[in-house]
Amino acid sequence: GTEASLLKDDADKGFKGHDMLAPFTAGWQATDLNPLVIERSEGSYVYDINGKKYLDSLAGLWCTALGGNEPRLVEAATKQLNTLPFYHSFWNRTTKPSLDLAKELTELFTASKMSKAFFTNSGSDANDTQVKLVWYYNNALGRTDKKKFIARTKSYHGSTLISASLSGLPALHQKFDLPAPFVLHTDCPHYWRYHLPGETEEEFSTRLANNLENLILKEGPETIAAFIAEPVMGAGGVIPPPATYFEKVQAVVKKYDILFIADEVICAFGRLGTMFGSDKYNIKPDLVTVAKALSSAYMPIGAVLVSPQVSDVIHSQSNKLGSFSHGFTYSGHPVACAVALEAIKIYKERNILEQVNKIAPKFQEGLKAFSDSPIIGEIRGTGLILGTEFTDNKSPNDPFPPEWGVGAYFGAQCEKNGMLVRVAGDNIMMSPPFIMTPAEIDEMISIYGKALKATE
Ligand code: PLP
Repeated sequence: GTEASLLKDDADKGFKGHDMLAPFTAGWQATDLNPLVIERSEGSYVYDINGKKYLDSLAGLWCTALGGNEPRLVEAATKQLNTLPFYHSFWNRTTKPSLDLAKELTELFTASKMSKAFFTNSGSDANDTQVKLVWYYNNALGRTDKKKFIARTKSYHGSTLISASLSGLPALHQKFDLPAPFVLHTDCPHYWRYHLPGETEEEFSTRLANNLENLILKEGPETIAAFIAEPVMGAGGVIPPPATYFEKVQAVVKKYDILFIADEVICAFGRLGTMFGSDKYNIKPDLVTVAKALSSAYMPIGAVLVSPQVSDVIHSQSNKLGSFSHGFTYSGHPVACAVALEAIKIYKERNILEQVNKIAPKFQEGLKAFSDSPIIGEIRGTGLILGTEFTDNKSPNDPFPPEWGVGAYFGAQCEKNGMLVRVAGDNIMMSPPFIMTPAEIDEMISIYGKALKATE
């Protein structure tokens, strides 16, 4: 059945027709709403209100890197709550945790030089902040026409008006009158789906870089302010870049004095086996977005890292232009910053990169071993992120009829067998916590195998 009918057929889990207008949730008629209600978490597992245990293969929403009950993060939050639960960072007043975290983040990012951090509450408002920073920067330089952004089809950059505009997923645009006119979209770098017959990955990357250049020339380079990209695309279906892709697109944007924004919301802090996705793909961004694993999701926080090229202009011009009048009550929230500082301390002390690189091969190889399944088109991923795409005939051009609900059925089978995965149509996504044990990876592979067999 379809996703909707699967949900309808489900037994009432106790909150049917609840009162919450739920994000990204189908079934707006209250009677269709029948959520799985999660009550507590422990390590790599979460438990629902009936006590059923699930392996959390998506780490919450690509974010609980340190799993469900890291006592040091709870302690850091408690200590800060007992000392100073809140003070803001406006008008030259601030708090110590926010200053410490800004220093920590600008030092931790080494793929290119970062000199400042701006704090937000999430990835979405961090990407909105990116747009405003870039506009302010170009206004300060007197380049008042250089305002357009180029993002990529199938990207996900958030769901506020601006970040949803940057995102390249139709569902975020339709019915919301988006994208905003200053956003252009260029090719999704998904080799399996979009390469021409006989085209190598390198040739594919060259073609995409040429398309990007042609788009810039068509629009006028003097109108293009920035290019934004996730190192590995996440919500668009887990799409690692093809060989030489970032090298080639970086050369194009540099040529036309276009800023490069790395949206590292999913990739940062070790998910790809490097501290940042930029390290893995030799990206040298001018601006970086982080969130999610920044605090292992124990507190909401995001940040924009700013290179000296941009921050120097903003600082030096602010007398002329007026202050950078942008920020949120909770920008640099001391409790969120204290938790983030502790999370980063743990990543370093426990050598999280070594841990990720130790379990990633088992995760990747164990799941990619199912690639031969007749209903799987492609399994792709790197480090601790993996996507499965169901198609017929192993071909990107033969999707299953949406009303068959293949992905939804697979997801429901995983859930039944005690594992939560992200389902988006016939794409399945997984990004487990970094703390997974080899036995838990084995369990993940085993449940995936059972669900696949039932779906075939
Ligand atoms: N950017 C990327 C790459 C993301 O994956 C997400 C969320 O999944 C966001 C931005 C938006 O972050 P948030 O949901 O915290 O607003």
